[in-house]
Amino acid sequence: MNIDEKLEPVLAEVMARNAGEAEFHQAAREVLESLGPVVARHPAYAEGALLERICEPERQIIFRVPWVDDSGQVQINRGFRVEFNSALGPYKGGLRFHPSVNLGIVKFLGFEQIFKNALSGMPIGGGKGGSDFNPRGRSEGEIMRFCQSFMTELYRHIGEYTDVPAGDMGVGQREIGFMFGQYKRITNRYESGVLTGKGLRWGGSRVRTEATGYGTVYFLERMLATKGDSFEGKRVVVSGSGNVAIYAMEKVQELGGIVVACSDSGGYVTDEGGIDLTLVKEIKEQRRARIASYVELNGAGAYHVAEASIWDVPCDIAIPCATQNELSGKAAKRLVENGVIAVAEGANMPCTPEAVRLFQSANTLFAPGKASNAGGVATSALEMQQNASRDSWTFEQTEARLATIMAAIHDRCAETAEDYGMPGNYVAGANIAGFIRVAEAMRALGV
Ligand code: GLU
Repeated sequence: MNIDEKLEPVLAEVMARNAGEAEFHQAAREVLESLGPVVARHPAYAEGALLERICEPERQIIFRVPWVDDSGQVQINRGFRVEFNSALGPYKGGLRFHPSVNLGIVKFLGFEQIFKNALSGMPIGGGKGGSDFNPRGRSEGEIMRFCQSFMTELYRHIGEYTDVPAGDMGVGQREIGFMFGQYKRITNRYESGVLTGKGLRWGGSRVRTEATGYGTVYFLERMLATKGDSFEGKRVVVSGSGNVAIYAMEKVQELGGIVVACSDSGGYVTDEGGIDLTLVKEIKEQRRARIASYVELNGAGAYHVAEASIWDVPCDIAIPCATQNELSGKAAKRLVENGVIAVAEGANMPCTPEAVRLFQSANTLFAPGKASNAGGVATSALEMQQNASRDSWTFEQTEARLATIMAAIHDRCAETAEDYGMPGNYVAGANIAGFIRVAEAMRALGV
Protein backbone atom coordinates (compact mmCIF):
# COMPACT_ATOMS: atom_id res chain seq x y z
CA MET A 1 0.00 0.00 0.00
CA ASN A 2 1.21 3.52 -0.69
CA ILE A 3 1.20 6.30 1.78
CA ASP A 4 -1.48 8.98 1.40
CA GLU A 5 -0.06 12.38 0.40
CA LYS A 6 -1.60 14.02 3.50
CA LEU A 7 0.35 11.58 5.66
CA GLU A 8 3.68 11.74 3.85
CA PRO A 9 4.90 14.80 5.79
CA VAL A 10 4.11 13.01 9.05
CA LEU A 11 6.38 10.12 8.10
CA ALA A 12 9.03 12.53 6.82
CA GLU A 13 9.00 14.22 10.23
CA VAL A 14 9.31 10.87 12.04
CA MET A 15 12.32 10.01 9.88
CA ALA A 16 13.97 13.40 10.39
CA ARG A 17 13.40 13.49 14.14
CA ASN A 18 14.51 9.90 14.68
CA ALA A 19 17.43 9.54 12.30
CA GLY A 20 18.87 6.05 11.94
CA GLU A 21 16.04 4.33 13.83
CA ALA A 22 15.10 1.95 11.01
CA GLU A 23 12.69 -0.27 12.95
CA PHE A 24 10.78 2.74 14.27
CA HIS A 25 10.48 4.17 10.74
CA GLN A 26 9.22 0.76 9.55
CA ALA A 27 6.57 0.56 12.28
CA ALA A 28 5.43 4.17 11.75
CA ARG A 29 5.25 3.73 7.97
CA GLU A 30 3.20 0.57 8.34
CA VAL A 31 0.60 2.30 10.52
CA LEU A 32 0.51 5.53 8.47
CA GLU A 33 0.06 3.57 5.24
CA SER A 34 -3.23 2.27 6.61
CA LEU A 35 -4.60 5.63 7.70
CA GLY A 36 -5.26 7.34 4.33
CA PRO A 37 -8.92 6.23 4.18
CA VAL A 38 -9.42 7.21 7.83
CA VAL A 39 -8.32 10.82 7.44
CA ALA A 40 -10.34 11.01 4.21
CA ARG A 41 -13.46 9.96 6.13
CA HIS A 42 -12.62 11.87 9.34
CA PRO A 43 -10.49 14.91 8.39
CA ALA A 44 -10.56 16.00 12.06
CA TYR A 45 -8.10 13.22 12.89
CA ALA A 46 -5.44 14.93 10.78
CA GLU A 47 -6.00 18.28 12.53
CA GLY A 48 -4.26 19.72 15.58
CA ALA A 49 -1.07 17.84 14.66
CA LEU A 50 -2.74 14.75 16.10
CA LEU A 51 -0.78 12.38 13.86
CA GLU A 52 2.50 14.13 14.59
CA ARG A 53 1.71 13.96 18.32
CA ILE A 54 0.93 10.25 18.14
CA CYS A 55 4.33 9.62 16.54
CA GLU A 56 6.28 11.54 19.20
CA PRO A 57 6.71 9.77 22.57
CA GLU A 58 5.39 11.69 25.56
CA ARG A 59 8.59 10.94 27.47
CA GLN A 60 11.86 9.11 26.72
CA ILE A 61 14.08 8.01 29.57
CA ILE A 62 17.66 6.78 29.09
CA PHE A 63 19.76 5.80 32.08
CA ARG A 64 22.99 4.17 33.23
CA VAL A 65 22.77 0.71 34.76
CA PRO A 66 25.96 -0.13 36.68
CA TRP A 67 26.29 -3.57 38.29
CA VAL A 68 28.98 -5.90 39.64
CA ASP A 69 29.63 -9.20 37.85
CA ASP A 70 30.70 -12.45 39.54
CA SER A 71 34.37 -11.65 39.15
CA GLY A 72 33.96 -8.34 40.97
CA GLN A 73 34.21 -6.18 37.82
CA VAL A 74 31.84 -3.24 37.41
CA GLN A 75 29.77 -3.51 34.24
CA ILE A 76 27.77 -0.72 32.61
CA ASN A 77 24.64 -1.14 30.52
CA ARG A 78 22.14 1.33 29.18
CA GLY A 79 18.50 1.31 30.31
CA PHE A 80 15.51 2.72 28.42
CA ARG A 81 11.88 3.46 29.06
CA VAL A 82 9.82 5.13 26.35
CA GLU A 83 6.48 6.37 27.72
CA PHE A 84 4.78 6.73 24.40
CA ASN A 85 1.10 7.46 24.85
CA SER A 86 -1.15 7.69 27.91
CA ALA A 87 -4.45 8.71 26.31
CA LEU A 88 -6.17 5.44 27.20
CA GLY A 89 -4.51 4.62 30.51
CA PRO A 90 -1.15 4.30 32.26
CA TYR A 91 1.74 3.49 29.91
CA LYS A 92 1.84 -0.28 29.55
CA GLY A 93 4.34 -2.53 27.86
CA GLY A 94 7.23 -4.88 28.44
CA LEU A 95 10.93 -4.61 29.20
CA ARG A 96 13.34 -6.30 26.80
CA PHE A 97 16.85 -7.36 27.86
CA HIS A 98 18.83 -8.17 24.72
CA PRO A 99 22.08 -6.88 23.20
CA SER A 100 20.16 -5.52 20.18
CA VAL A 101 18.15 -3.09 22.33
CA ASN A 102 18.63 0.60 21.53
CA LEU A 103 16.39 3.65 21.53
CA GLY A 104 15.04 2.94 18.01
CA ILE A 105 14.05 -0.63 18.90
CA VAL A 106 12.32 0.54 22.07
CA LYS A 107 10.44 3.24 20.11
CA PHE A 108 9.28 0.78 17.47
CA LEU A 109 8.03 -1.57 20.18
CA GLY A 110 6.42 1.27 22.13
CA PHE A 111 4.70 2.60 19.03
CA GLU A 112 3.26 -0.84 18.20
CA GLN A 113 2.18 -1.17 21.80
CA ILE A 114 -0.04 1.95 21.63
CA PHE A 115 -2.26 0.43 18.94
CA LYS A 116 -2.09 -3.11 20.30
CA ASN A 117 -3.21 -1.96 23.71
CA ALA A 118 -5.98 0.18 22.21
CA LEU A 119 -7.16 -2.76 20.14
CA SER A 120 -7.35 -4.96 23.23
CA GLY A 121 -10.17 -2.75 24.49
CA MET A 122 -8.48 -2.46 27.90
CA PRO A 123 -7.75 0.89 29.64
CA ILE A 124 -3.99 0.93 29.00
CA GLY A 125 -1.67 3.35 27.21
CA GLY A 126 1.51 2.36 25.37
CA GLY A 127 5.12 2.17 26.48
CA LYS A 128 8.18 -0.04 26.27
CA GLY A 129 11.60 -0.33 27.82
CA GLY A 130 14.62 -2.48 28.30
CA SER A 131 18.36 -2.66 28.18
CA ASP A 132 21.22 -3.81 25.96
CA PHE A 133 22.16 -6.20 28.80
CA ASN A 134 22.75 -9.74 27.52
CA PRO A 135 21.44 -12.30 30.03
CA ARG A 136 22.95 -15.23 28.08
CA GLY A 137 25.58 -17.01 30.14
CA ARG A 138 25.03 -14.79 33.20
CA SER A 139 24.59 -16.38 36.64
CA GLU A 140 21.41 -15.90 38.65
CA GLY A 141 23.32 -13.60 41.02
CA GLU A 142 24.44 -11.39 38.12
CA ILE A 143 20.91 -11.25 36.74
CA MET A 144 19.57 -10.29 40.16
CA ARG A 145 22.12 -7.50 40.62
CA PHE A 146 21.45 -6.21 37.13
CA CYS A 147 17.65 -6.19 37.71
CA GLN A 148 18.10 -4.42 41.04
CA SER A 149 20.30 -1.73 39.53
CA PHE A 150 17.87 -1.29 36.63
CA MET A 151 15.00 -0.76 39.08
CA THR A 152 17.05 1.58 41.28
CA GLU A 153 16.66 4.12 38.48
CA LEU A 154 13.38 2.99 36.91
CA TYR A 155 11.32 3.05 40.14
CA ARG A 156 10.97 6.85 40.12
CA HIS A 157 9.29 6.78 36.70
CA ILE A 158 6.71 4.02 37.22
CA GLY A 159 3.63 3.36 39.35
CA GLU A 160 0.25 1.65 39.08
CA TYR A 161 -1.37 4.86 37.77
CA THR A 162 1.66 6.03 35.78
CA ASP A 163 3.54 3.31 33.96
CA VAL A 164 3.27 -0.46 34.41
CA PRO A 165 6.12 -2.49 32.85
CA ALA A 166 6.07 -6.26 32.28
CA GLY A 167 8.33 -8.79 30.58
CA ASP A 168 9.44 -9.18 26.96
CA MET A 169 12.46 -11.00 25.47
CA GLY A 170 14.97 -11.84 28.23
CA VAL A 171 12.57 -10.81 31.00
CA GLY A 172 10.38 -13.47 32.59
CA GLN A 173 8.88 -14.09 36.00
CA ARG A 174 12.31 -14.43 37.64
CA GLU A 175 13.47 -11.00 36.45
CA ILE A 176 10.10 -9.39 37.27
CA GLY A 177 10.52 -10.84 40.79
CA PHE A 178 13.97 -9.29 41.25
CA MET A 179 12.66 -5.93 40.01
CA PHE A 180 9.49 -6.04 42.09
CA GLY A 181 11.58 -6.89 45.18
CA GLN A 182 13.78 -3.87 44.57
CA TYR A 183 10.79 -1.57 43.96
CA LYS A 184 9.25 -2.72 47.25
CA ARG A 185 12.55 -2.27 49.11
CA ILE A 186 13.07 1.28 47.82
CA THR A 187 9.50 2.56 48.16
CA ASN A 188 8.37 0.55 51.20
CA ARG A 189 5.11 -0.15 49.32
CA TYR A 190 3.65 -3.49 48.32
CA GLU A 191 2.26 -1.95 45.16
CA SER A 192 1.28 -5.08 43.22
CA GLY A 193 -0.09 -3.13 40.26
CA VAL A 194 3.27 -1.54 39.39
CA LEU A 195 4.51 -4.52 37.37
CA THR A 196 2.76 -7.39 35.63
CA GLY A 197 3.95 -10.88 34.84
CA LYS A 198 4.45 -11.51 38.56
CA GLY A 199 4.52 -14.96 40.17
CA LEU A 200 1.24 -16.43 41.39
CA ARG A 201 2.23 -16.25 45.06
CA TRP A 202 3.05 -12.55 44.92
CA GLY A 203 0.28 -10.90 42.95
CA GLY A 204 0.52 -12.54 39.54
CA SER A 205 -2.35 -13.70 37.38
CA ARG A 206 -3.08 -17.19 36.22
CA VAL A 207 -2.70 -17.58 32.41
CA ARG A 208 -0.30 -14.59 32.12
CA THR A 209 2.59 -16.94 31.23
CA GLU A 210 0.55 -18.73 28.59
CA ALA A 211 -1.41 -15.69 27.38
CA THR A 212 0.59 -14.40 24.40
CA GLY A 213 0.98 -17.84 22.83
CA TYR A 214 -2.55 -19.00 23.62
CA GLY A 215 -3.99 -15.71 22.42
CA THR A 216 -2.17 -15.89 19.08
CA VAL A 217 -3.62 -19.34 18.48
CA TYR A 218 -7.13 -18.25 19.51
CA PHE A 219 -6.84 -15.45 16.98
CA LEU A 220 -5.73 -17.90 14.28
CA GLU A 221 -8.54 -20.28 15.17
CA ARG A 222 -11.11 -17.54 14.64
CA MET A 223 -9.42 -16.36 11.44
CA LEU A 224 -9.43 -19.93 10.06
CA ALA A 225 -13.10 -20.28 11.03
CA THR A 226 -13.98 -17.38 8.67
CA LYS A 227 -12.95 -19.80 5.89
CA GLY A 228 -14.71 -22.77 7.51
CA ASP A 229 -11.31 -24.21 8.46
CA SER A 230 -9.59 -25.30 11.72
CA PHE A 231 -6.28 -26.53 13.21
CA GLU A 232 -7.33 -30.18 13.02
CA GLY A 233 -4.56 -32.16 11.29
CA LYS A 234 -2.66 -29.06 10.10
CA ARG A 235 1.14 -28.92 9.88
CA VAL A 236 2.31 -25.96 11.92
CA VAL A 237 5.74 -24.30 12.14
CA VAL A 238 6.46 -22.05 15.12
CA SER A 239 9.70 -20.07 15.20
CA GLY A 240 11.29 -19.39 18.57
CA SER A 241 11.18 -21.51 21.72
CA GLY A 242 10.66 -18.84 24.35
CA ASN A 243 7.55 -18.12 26.32
CA VAL A 244 5.41 -17.07 23.34
CA ALA A 245 6.42 -20.02 21.13
CA ILE A 246 6.06 -22.66 23.86
CA TYR A 247 2.47 -21.76 24.72
CA ALA A 248 1.50 -21.21 21.09
CA MET A 249 2.68 -24.77 20.44
CA GLU A 250 0.77 -26.06 23.47
CA LYS A 251 -2.52 -24.54 22.26
CA VAL A 252 -1.97 -25.69 18.65
CA GLN A 253 -1.51 -29.25 19.90
CA GLU A 254 -4.64 -28.98 22.08
CA LEU A 255 -6.60 -27.92 19.02
CA GLY A 256 -5.40 -30.89 16.95
CA GLY A 257 -2.57 -29.29 14.96
CA ILE A 258 0.84 -30.95 14.52
CA VAL A 259 3.82 -28.72 15.32
CA VAL A 260 6.66 -29.98 13.12
CA ALA A 261 9.39 -27.40 13.85
CA CYS A 262 10.56 -24.78 16.32
CA SER A 263 13.82 -22.84 16.71
CA ASP A 264 16.15 -20.59 18.65
CA SER A 265 18.96 -18.29 17.55
CA GLY A 266 21.19 -21.35 17.04
CA GLY A 267 18.97 -22.99 14.39
CA TYR A 268 15.82 -25.06 14.14
CA VAL A 269 14.62 -28.52 15.08
CA THR A 270 12.20 -30.60 13.01
CA ASP A 271 10.30 -33.57 14.33
CA GLU A 272 7.84 -35.03 11.85
CA GLY A 273 6.12 -36.98 14.63
CA GLY A 274 5.24 -33.68 16.29
CA ILE A 275 7.46 -31.62 18.62
CA ASP A 276 7.66 -33.08 22.14
CA LEU A 277 6.65 -30.02 24.12
CA THR A 278 7.47 -31.45 27.55
CA LEU A 279 11.04 -31.80 26.33
CA VAL A 280 11.16 -28.26 24.87
CA LYS A 281 9.88 -26.90 28.20
CA GLU A 282 12.52 -28.86 30.09
CA ILE A 283 15.30 -27.60 27.77
CA LYS A 284 14.18 -23.98 27.82
CA GLU A 285 12.60 -23.49 31.24
CA GLN A 286 14.74 -25.78 33.43
CA ARG A 287 18.05 -26.43 31.69
CA ARG A 288 18.08 -22.99 29.99
CA ALA A 289 19.94 -24.71 27.13
CA ARG A 290 19.93 -24.52 23.31
CA ILE A 291 17.18 -26.16 21.27
CA ALA A 292 19.90 -28.23 19.52
CA SER A 293 19.97 -30.51 22.59
CA TYR A 294 16.42 -31.64 21.65
CA VAL A 295 17.92 -34.09 19.13
CA GLU A 296 20.19 -35.95 21.57
CA LEU A 297 17.56 -35.95 24.33
CA ASN A 298 14.70 -37.03 22.09
CA GLY A 299 16.51 -39.61 19.98
CA ALA A 300 15.13 -40.85 16.68
CA GLY A 301 13.12 -38.80 14.23
CA ALA A 302 14.34 -35.30 15.06
CA TYR A 303 16.89 -33.18 13.22
CA HIS A 304 18.68 -29.97 14.06
CA VAL A 305 19.53 -27.58 11.23
CA ALA A 306 21.92 -24.78 12.13
CA GLU A 307 22.48 -22.81 8.94
CA ALA A 308 19.08 -22.54 7.25
CA SER A 309 15.74 -20.82 7.67
CA ILE A 310 12.95 -22.53 9.60
CA TRP A 311 10.58 -21.17 6.94
CA ASP A 312 11.97 -23.72 4.47
CA VAL A 313 9.97 -26.36 6.37
CA PRO A 314 6.67 -26.86 4.50
CA CYS A 315 3.58 -26.10 6.58
CA ASP A 316 -0.08 -25.08 6.46
CA ILE A 317 0.21 -22.56 9.26
CA ALA A 318 3.21 -20.42 10.24
CA ILE A 319 3.52 -18.67 13.60
CA PRO A 320 6.65 -16.50 13.84
CA CYS A 321 7.36 -16.06 17.58
CA ALA A 322 11.07 -15.19 17.64
CA THR A 323 11.89 -11.55 16.89
CA GLN A 324 11.44 -8.58 14.54
CA ASN A 325 12.08 -9.01 10.81
CA GLU A 326 12.87 -12.72 11.17
CA LEU A 327 10.63 -13.68 8.22
CA SER A 328 11.89 -12.09 4.98
CA GLY A 329 10.27 -11.70 1.58
CA LYS A 330 12.26 -14.69 0.38
CA ALA A 331 10.99 -16.81 3.27
CA ALA A 332 7.41 -15.66 2.61
CA LYS A 333 7.74 -16.64 -1.04
CA ARG A 334 8.92 -20.10 0.00
CA LEU A 335 6.02 -20.48 2.45
CA VAL A 336 3.50 -19.45 -0.22
CA GLU A 337 5.05 -21.88 -2.75
CA ASN A 338 4.74 -24.61 -0.12
CA GLY A 339 1.03 -23.85 0.28
CA VAL A 340 0.80 -21.95 3.58
CA ILE A 341 -2.80 -20.93 4.31
CA ALA A 342 -2.42 -18.75 7.42
CA VAL A 343 0.29 -16.75 9.19
CA ALA A 344 -0.06 -15.05 12.57
CA GLU A 345 2.64 -12.99 14.26
CA GLY A 346 3.35 -14.10 17.84
CA ALA A 347 6.40 -11.83 18.05
CA ASN A 348 6.34 -8.07 17.40
CA MET A 349 6.77 -7.28 13.67
CA PRO A 350 8.51 -10.58 12.78
CA CYS A 351 7.50 -10.32 9.10
CA THR A 352 9.26 -7.76 6.91
CA PRO A 353 7.02 -5.38 4.89
CA GLU A 354 7.89 -7.36 1.75
CA ALA A 355 6.81 -10.62 3.42
CA VAL A 356 3.49 -9.06 4.46
CA ARG A 357 2.87 -7.81 0.91
CA LEU A 358 3.58 -11.28 -0.47
CA PHE A 359 1.15 -12.97 1.91
CA GLN A 360 -1.53 -10.43 1.12
CA SER A 361 -1.15 -10.74 -2.64
CA ALA A 362 -1.25 -14.55 -2.34
CA ASN A 363 -4.48 -14.30 -0.29
CA THR A 364 -2.81 -16.01 2.65
CA LEU A 365 -4.66 -15.18 5.86
CA PHE A 366 -2.30 -12.82 7.67
CA ALA A 367 -2.62 -11.54 11.26
CA PRO A 368 -0.33 -8.68 12.36
CA GLY A 369 1.25 -8.95 15.82
CA LYS A 370 -0.47 -5.91 17.22
CA ALA A 371 -3.71 -7.88 16.91
CA SER A 372 -2.69 -11.53 17.19
CA ASN A 373 -0.18 -11.21 20.05
CA ALA A 374 -2.26 -8.80 22.13
CA GLY A 375 -3.31 -11.61 24.51
CA GLY A 376 -0.18 -11.09 26.63
CA VAL A 377 -0.74 -7.46 27.37
CA ALA A 378 -4.51 -7.98 27.68
CA THR A 379 -3.87 -10.55 30.40
CA SER A 380 -1.49 -8.07 32.02
CA ALA A 381 -4.48 -5.73 32.18
CA LEU A 382 -6.46 -8.55 33.82
CA GLU A 383 -3.59 -8.91 36.31
CA MET A 384 -3.90 -5.17 37.07
CA GLN A 385 -7.65 -5.65 37.63
CA GLN A 386 -7.04 -8.49 40.06
CA ASN A 387 -4.38 -6.43 41.88
CA ALA A 388 -6.68 -3.41 42.15
CA SER A 389 -9.46 -5.52 43.68
CA ARG A 390 -7.03 -7.70 45.72
CA ASP A 391 -8.57 -10.69 44.04
CA SER A 392 -7.25 -13.79 42.28
CA TRP A 393 -9.21 -15.53 39.57
CA THR A 394 -9.20 -19.21 38.61
CA PHE A 395 -7.41 -20.47 35.51
CA GLU A 396 -10.73 -21.20 33.79
CA GLN A 397 -12.15 -17.76 34.55
CA THR A 398 -9.01 -15.99 33.33
CA GLU A 399 -8.63 -18.10 30.20
CA ALA A 400 -12.28 -17.52 29.34
CA ARG A 401 -11.68 -13.74 29.59
CA LEU A 402 -8.63 -14.06 27.33
CA ALA A 403 -10.59 -16.06 24.76
CA THR A 404 -13.38 -13.45 24.72
CA ILE A 405 -10.87 -10.61 24.35
CA MET A 406 -9.08 -12.33 21.43
CA ALA A 407 -12.38 -13.01 19.66
CA ALA A 408 -13.33 -9.35 20.09
CA ILE A 409 -9.96 -8.18 18.72
CA HIS A 410 -10.35 -10.46 15.73
CA ASP A 411 -13.85 -9.24 15.00
CA ARG A 412 -12.90 -5.58 15.49
CA CYS A 413 -10.10 -5.96 12.89
CA ALA A 414 -12.26 -7.91 10.45
CA GLU A 415 -15.24 -5.53 10.72
CA THR A 416 -13.09 -2.42 10.42
CA ALA A 417 -11.35 -3.79 7.32
CA GLU A 418 -14.75 -4.57 5.83
CA ASP A 419 -16.11 -1.13 6.74
CA TYR A 420 -13.16 0.53 4.95
CA GLY A 421 -13.62 -1.61 1.85
CA MET A 422 -10.66 -3.96 2.44
CA PRO A 423 -12.25 -7.23 3.55
CA GLY A 424 -9.76 -9.75 4.92
CA ASN A 425 -7.02 -7.13 5.36
CA TYR A 426 -6.25 -7.58 9.06
CA VAL A 427 -3.28 -5.19 8.85
CA ALA A 428 -5.48 -2.29 7.82
CA GLY A 429 -8.26 -3.38 10.20
CA ALA A 430 -5.89 -3.48 13.20
CA ASN A 431 -4.18 -0.19 12.42
CA ILE A 432 -7.41 1.68 11.76
CA ALA A 433 -9.37 0.31 14.73
CA GLY A 434 -6.45 0.85 17.14
CA PHE A 435 -5.78 4.34 15.80
CA ILE A 436 -9.40 5.51 16.04
CA ARG A 437 -9.61 4.56 19.70
CA VAL A 438 -6.43 6.44 20.58
CA ALA A 439 -7.26 9.42 18.36
CA GLU A 440 -10.69 9.89 19.92
CA ALA A 441 -9.25 9.86 23.44
CA MET A 442 -6.47 12.28 22.47
CA ARG A 443 -8.94 14.70 20.91
CA ALA A 444 -11.14 14.56 24.00
CA LEU A 445 -8.20 15.22 26.32
CA GLY A 446 -6.98 18.31 24.43
CA VAL A 447 -3.51 19.30 23.34
N1 GLU B 1 5.89 -7.62 25.96
C1 GLU B 1 4.53 -8.00 25.70
C2 GLU B 1 4.05 -7.34 24.42
O1 GLU B 1 4.83 -7.18 23.51
C3 GLU B 1 3.62 -7.81 26.91
C4 GLU B 1 3.58 -6.45 27.50
C5 GLU B 1 2.79 -6.36 28.82
O2 GLU B 1 2.28 -7.36 29.27
O3 GLU B 1 2.74 -5.24 29.33
O4 GLU B 1 2.91 -7.02 24.24
